[in-house]
Amino acid sequence: MSVVCELAAPFVANSAVDGREVSSPFRSHTSTCLKCQARHAAMSRTARELAAMHDQRLPAPADLEWRVLSSLEGDLEVARTWRKPIALSAAVLSMAAAIIIWRLRPRTS
Ligand SMILES: [Zn+2]
Repeated sequence: MSVVCELAAPFVANSAVDGREVSSPFRSHTSTCLKCQARHAAMSRTARELAAMHDQRLPAPADLEWRVLSSLEGDLEVARTWRKPIALSAAVLSMAAAIIIWRLRPRTS
């Protein structure tokens, strides 16, 4: 792909979705560039397929929410929300172990 192809890509995408020719600044390039023509054809096909699916209702996968949330980074990431429960559980377990060890200690008196 050349730089011209990359510059023309948004215009190719828009024309493919709208079903019209590529805008004039890149029309001459896309008329001779096989890569841009292939991109236009692929995007046109995708746009037609999406348009044909406009009235279909497909159920979301059951784990969609988990997959989306687990892929987030930053303040919304799931791992951060689990830090408090894990730290609290570890503190409770270590306190319980300390009490058990204290109760089972050998007495010398
Ligand atoms: Zn091109």
